Amino acid sequence: MKILVPVKRVIDYNVKARVKADGSGVDLANVKMSMNPFDEIAVEEAVRLKEAGVATEVVAVSCGVAACQETLRTAMAIGADRGILVETDVELQPLAVAKLLKAVADREAPALVILGKQAIDDDANQTGQMLAALKGWPQATFASKVALADEGGQPRATVTREIDGGLETIAISLPAVVTTDLRLNEPRYATLPNIMKAKKKPLDTVKPAELGVDVAPRLATLKVAEPPARSAGVRVADVAQLVDKLKNEAKVL
Ligand code: AMP
Repeated sequence: MKILVPVKRVIDYNVKARVKADGSGVDLANVKMSMNPFDEIAVEEAVRLKEAGVATEVVAVSCGVAACQETLRTAMAIGADRGILVETDVELQPLAVAKLLKAVADREAPALVILGKQAIDDDANQTGQMLAALKGWPQATFASKVALADEGGQPRATVTREIDGGLETIAISLPAVVTTDLRLNEPRYATLPNIMKAKKKPLDTVKPAELGVDVAPRLATLKVAEPPARSAGVRVADVAQLVDKLKNEAKVL
């Protein structure tokens, strides 16, 4: 069974994002970029399935600028077998990424695509759902547990999902799309030997046009602004004062 893991190169979660002076977007000049944290969880899950003998191959795919190769190498250092870069300088929106991933999935025919539930740069939370719709595959989003089984020749996944107010467990037939939530696993650190080994793993590059996908943006960003500065907090003497302030000043009780 082949697993496809889309990995996005995003601004590192430790970096405080700064808005460009002209308000056209987030300033990414000289900023540390890393793999989207939910995608690290997705790679870890796929690699664990391979280590358990359930999956046979883990293929990482990243869409974006040439530097996304670094993200793919990180995925391969965690344990992915090979990487595919869909290279473009166009700023990609979730629908364009979903179309590119559909085209890659058409070529690769994976049994499972495991994505992050959302990318921490735009927080869109759309790509996995759109990919499932484009492929006509079942989807299990926000997974905190994934178990695969073969039921009478029909491969199925039992997925525990994090939903408002608790957990939900659903069974879906494969091929399918799963998106990861934080509690699914704790990704391993890539060791130096594995980082070295990852440099020798195969990495193919394709262009969106070769996949027959138009990646032109459908949404226009009108303005990006910093959130309003927060005013300083106050220290309260006791619980009674806190409750009084919440009731009479903040009016949230
Ligand atoms: P989003 O819908 O943008 O919040 O992203 C959800 C997930 O889709 C991410 O966690 C990635 O797994 C995948 N994804 C989004 N953009 C890309 C991209 N440019 N390249 C590869 N995977 C992506």
